[in-house]
Amino acid sequence: MIILKNREEIELMRESALSVSRTLGIIAKEIKPGVTPLYLDKIAEEYIRDNGGVPGFKGMYGFPNTLCMSLNAAVVHGIPTNKPLEEGDIISVDCGVIKNGYFGDHAYTFGVGQINPEVQKLLDVTKECLYIGIEQFQAGNRIGDIGFAIQQHAEKNGYGVVRELVGHGLGKKLHEDPEVPNFGKRADGPKIKDGMVLAIEPMINMGTKNIKQLKDGWTILTADGKPSAHFEHDVAQIDGKPEILSTFKYIEEALGIL
Ligand code: MG
Ligand code: MG
Repeated sequence: MIILKNREEIELMRESALSVSRTLGIIAKEIKPGVTPLYLDKIAEEYIRDNGGVPGFKGMYGFPNTLCMSLNAAVVHGIPTNKPLEEGDIISVDCGVIKNGYFGDHAYTFGVGQINPEVQKLLDVTKECLYIGIEQFQAGNRIGDIGFAIQQHAEKNGYGVVRELVGHGLGKKLHEDPEVPNFGKRADGPKIKDGMVLAIEPMINMGTKNIKQLKDGWTILTADGKPSAHFEHDVAQIDGKPEILSTFKYIEEALGIL
């Protein structure tokens, strides 16, 4: 069942989403070679709690940390480790916050120091996929139009689109209906309606679309060991148009690319 949100609820969700955005902005300032994912996880948790939120992922389905941190060939759901980041790594950081009873859930893939231009292109195209998907979140369209647009753009660039993991409705629960695949057919799936709030989140692999799970029971890896990127925004449907509730502004200011 798709739970539609009224304007008041959407404003509360905007606060939750922005709380994640600010947390990712703090992380962006700290990411560099030598820093450990566990250290980043610790400062994220402190920042969230100091600002009236609760880490949304910690304890969810038994996940042990505040951030999902997925390194290089890890797609999503990576557990932060004590292994220092190295020059040239990429790391996808996914963060959830509960505030006012609502979830915010968004993600960004960071380069550590200087990264290979081929890998940078994967990050750029995955971020483009996110915005191209969001553009399709319009009155008159269906959920399949979002995935269709994302898949087209990724595959045009020779990349693989992960099938097993998808975006989702967002609200009082982290995962609500509908599922929002990053692949699909035009005019397929549920109709887009005012009051829908979605987490749209392309997971794009440089090589094969196929994945496997690490023995830790969490980390999802690309089957061929090539890098994967993940960008996610929380988006509400208002007056027939998508409105992005989260923002990359804090991240990109910190990275000096805004
Ligand atoms: Mg997420
Ligand atoms: Mg999500």
